[in-house]
Amino acid sequence: MICIANAVIDCMKILVLNCGSSSIKYQLIDMDKDEALARGLIAKIGEHGSYIRHRAGGREVVKEIPIENHARGLEVMMEYLLHPEFGVLKDPSEVSAVGHRVVHGGSVFVKPTLITEEVIKKLKEYSYLAPLHNPHNVAGIEAAKKIFPNVPQVAVFDTAFHQTLPEKAYMYPLPYEFYEKYGVRKYGFHGISCDYVSRRASEFLGKSRDDLKVIICHLGNGVTVCAVDGGKSIDTSMGLTPLGGLMMGTRCGDLDPGVIFYLAKNADLNLDQINEILNNKSGLLGVSGVSNDVREILEEAKKGNKRCILAIEMFTYRVKKWIGAYAAALGGLDAVVFTAGIGENSPKIRSMICAGLEFMGVELDEERNEKAVGIEAEISKPSSRVKVLVIPTNEEKLIAVETMKITKNLEGS
Ligand code: ADP
Repeated sequence: MICIANAVIDCMKILVLNCGSSSIKYQLIDMDKDEALARGLIAKIGEHGSYIRHRAGGREVVKEIPIENHARGLEVMMEYLLHPEFGVLKDPSEVSAVGHRVVHGGSVFVKPTLITEEVIKKLKEYSYLAPLHNPHNVAGIEAAKKIFPNVPQVAVFDTAFHQTLPEKAYMYPLPYEFYEKYGVRKYGFHGISCDYVSRRASEFLGKSRDDLKVIICHLGNGVTVCAVDGGKSIDTSMGLTPLGGLMMGTRCGDLDPGVIFYLAKNADLNLDQINEILNNKSGLLGVSGVSNDVREILEEAKKGNKRCILAIEMFTYRVKKWIGAYAAALGGLDAVVFTAGIGENSPKIRSMICAGLEFMGVELDEERNEKAVGIEAEISKPSSRVKVLVIPTNEEKLIAVETMKITKNLEGS
């Protein structure tokens, strides 16, 4: 059990919502029992074949239902949360608070925030910084306010954890007025995950967070490598938008900016087309030509598919380089932590990343590594100066804890 919640809670049920462009992930968490009562996914919103996958009490139900927008999606979610057979609620009023994952909080939202009309207005303003994410987060907030008009709603930001970055790390070497006028700087993402995982790492190692230098490798469809010093993010790989940093499922990560102008000139592509390619057709998918899913690419690589072998080599080489860079930025290193879909489940990828890092004190134990699939584990040799850990992320849990703290403060005021 994680100790990040240290308050006494009386039967608080918190609904956590993560609204993407065509999906809503939800979890209803009983904070008292420290368990998820139900979790689910509404997928393909606004598309043909939309469906709900709902899990509760060890059972799962999948149902295809036309779901035209986020508001309808939340209605369907409520039908299942209240369902006589699969439900876990008798009445919507049992939900004490709603916590929303919001991707971009810009420079204004540096901590979890109670959602008011003013906050929604500001979030809409920040949509230009995360056009693929923020508008959908806001759609989810507005829909949830209709379903739970009298329930406190809290926004927890993916960018907030990185607000501790020093200026030298977050500034881009562009004319300074672009920062002043347009807020062009590194913001960083996956902050909720990095915050949760770094807290959990210090609990796992039995050391105060203040004394630890940790590199978090959040390797999912989106990828972040983050340097955490004394519990504070001091550098992180994504930038102004979630397109920057490492190679990802379909995103390219950092590129020579000249590539964009070169493509515009020579490949007869306009800016929107290039944007679409860099976000959705690049990364592991673009190089392998097979999939954005590491499982499929590894399968094909085993059969000798050269582009799949290359995609995996490029992916792991980049993570390795970032670990080296952030160890230098931290001026030392206590632990490397792997998390998210690839980081939690792929011993092969972890092994390729750590190979050759023995010179800096990273000694992977291959046997422990093989066994650590989807579980919390130490996977370095006992002699390893730098510990290597696998820690499954739990963004929903942290969102629920932060939502609860704000809600409790409201009660106290
Ligand atoms: P998201 O960024 O969408 O939240 P996740 O953290 O769920 O992504 O990670 C999804 C990715 O994790 C998949 O695309 C796949 O590449 C990878 N993945 C999941 N399970 C495995 C596995 N057993 N082995 C290798 N990769 C896996």
